[in-house]
Amino acid sequence: MEEFSQSQAKSKNAAEELQKRSHVEAAKCYQCGKCSGGCPVADYMDIMPRQVMRLVQLGLVEEALKSKAIWLCAGCSTCSVRCPKGVDIAHEMETLRIMAKERGYIPEKDIDKFHNIYIGLMKGFGRMYEPGLIVGRNVTTGHLLKDFSYGIPYLVKRKLNLLPYRPKQKDDIKRIFETAEQLMQQDLAEFREGR
Ligand code: SF4
Ligand code: SF4
Repeated sequence: MEEFSQSQAKSKNAAEELQKRSHVEAAKCYQCGKCSGGCPVADYMDIMPRQVMRLVQLGLVEEALKSKAIWLCAGCSTCSVRCPKGVDIAHEMETLRIMAKERGYIPEKDIDKFHNIYIGLMKGFGRMYEPGLIVGRNVTTGHLLKDFSYGIPYLVKRKLNLLPYRPKQKDDIKRIFETAEQLMQQDLAEFREGR
């Protein structure tokens, strides 16, 4: 019984934290399923985006945090655009990923590595540098030749640059990331102070 109460308290705490950090109004979701219907990776998820939102509504955020779905989400925002209630599901998924990572719930380790490399490249160049992403992912995950053949036609047709883009506005890019980080830390601090 005590264990159940502790688990309930943990979930309640996580639900409050999620609300404070994502600012997404999960209560608006009326479970129509349009988000799941349009999600390009729904077939591979353990629970559908609609079900993630239902768990959040029920305060069962710990369950959502431990799902694989939040890691498979590609952040494409199709769900957010399709939602008739204007619920920003993509942002909710991203916030859940951040919280899951902070708690050490990382069931898809390769995706986490991919995500880290992606963010690092965006910080460095301000836009994606695909060869760097592929090489970085393959080296860190130990699958050295994975998907290399897919890149060759793009290189031949000059759709991929071998060298990264060199942004002129490096300071602006740095400022964007710093501001985003500050806002995230501010939300987290406000949540902790309000407890
Ligand atoms: S599309 Fe919006 S309202 Fe419909 S299930 Fe998804 S989050 Fe809920
Ligand atoms: S943002 Fe994620 S959950 Fe939403 S449609 Fe894209 S992949 Fe699916």
